[in-house]
Amino acid sequence: MRVLVTGGAGYIGSHTCKALAEAGHTPIVYDNLRTGHAWAVKWGPLEHGDINDLAGLSDTMRRHRPDAVINFAALAYVGESVERPDFYYRTNVSGMVTLLQAMRLHDVNAIVLSSSCATYGVPARVPIGEDTPQNPINPYGRSKRMAEEVMRDVCAAYGLGGIALRYFNAAGADHDGELGEEHAPETHLIPLVLQVAAGLRDHVSIFGTDYDTPDGTCIRDYVHVTDLASAHVAALSTCQPGGFSAFNLGTGRGSSIAEVVACARAVTGKAIVAQEGPRRPGDPPALVADAARAREVLGWSPAHSDLEKVIADAWAWMTIHRARVPAGG
Ligand code: UDP
Repeated sequence: MRVLVTGGAGYIGSHTCKALAEAGHTPIVYDNLRTGHAWAVKWGPLEHGDINDLAGLSDTMRRHRPDAVINFAALAYVGESVERPDFYYRTNVSGMVTLLQAMRLHDVNAIVLSSSCATYGVPARVPIGEDTPQNPINPYGRSKRMAEEVMRDVCAAYGLGGIALRYFNAAGADHDGELGEEHAPETHLIPLVLQVAAGLRDHVSIFGTDYDTPDGTCIRDYVHVTDLASAHVAALSTCQPGGFSAFNLGTGRGSSIAEVVACARAVTGKAIVAQEGPRRPGDPPALVADAARAREVLGWSPAHSDLEKVIADAWAWMTIHRARVPAGG
């Protein structure tokens, strides 16, 4: 299959391109390189363009004739989404409308959307199944829910097949050391903890130690980016015309922030200074996936997502690419 991967120069997109190539597909990356990296495009052509540029998308589809699209082209900082919501709706929602329009013009009938557990907001209970009400609590989560709704309606109206994959906490790096996480600014827990281990930061702050969890810190479901990548490949082969479905991608196991820090100390052999700080607004105490549907329908199960493996692969990547990480960032 020829697969147009919008946002394919980013963290999860680039790992997915590698998985597509390994499965015998050809990924064609379309990315504006605002947060993605040209160096991460290694398994097919790179087309430079914006998700809201219908002419650019159209030209790319005309030349490459994709059979399907995977859309990663989105903005993903919760804090920034509160400050600049219009920018988020434009990229994540209007971009989705534009992409679907280009697909219809070029008769591309299958799409997999990168979505998020942020669409659930603060769930009444964990683990979270796909039928949990989606009540996002910030513009980022709302933009992803809207993108899903746009996709669902367009698929129903015009007979396209659409799958939304709702990731829990993506982490880790390619085990061959070819790809990894590089965000600026970095806001995610595991890379920040490892930047402390690498001597690039003095300490990491623990955002809240008074949650109603066993050790008082927030619990998240960390899933290896390579496992997320393989779910996209599986989703492509189950995408049916005229249908919409959504799948949670997580391990079903939660790890607290304190457990992440302890595991990182063990993996790196470094003393990692962690300072207790106030809660970060909008953080649910626990987010853990019920991924039974992905297991049953996609035949997907996370094979690399033990916390130790996730952290070890992220650490190996950071060690190789330390020069790229902004000091004190
Ligand atoms: N977190 C933290 N210190 C940091 C960054 C994150 O304590 O410097 C916490 C954050 O409050 C959350 C968890 O780590 O409970 C995971 O946060 P991250 O930003 O990695 O992912 P999110 O769950 O927000 O998608």
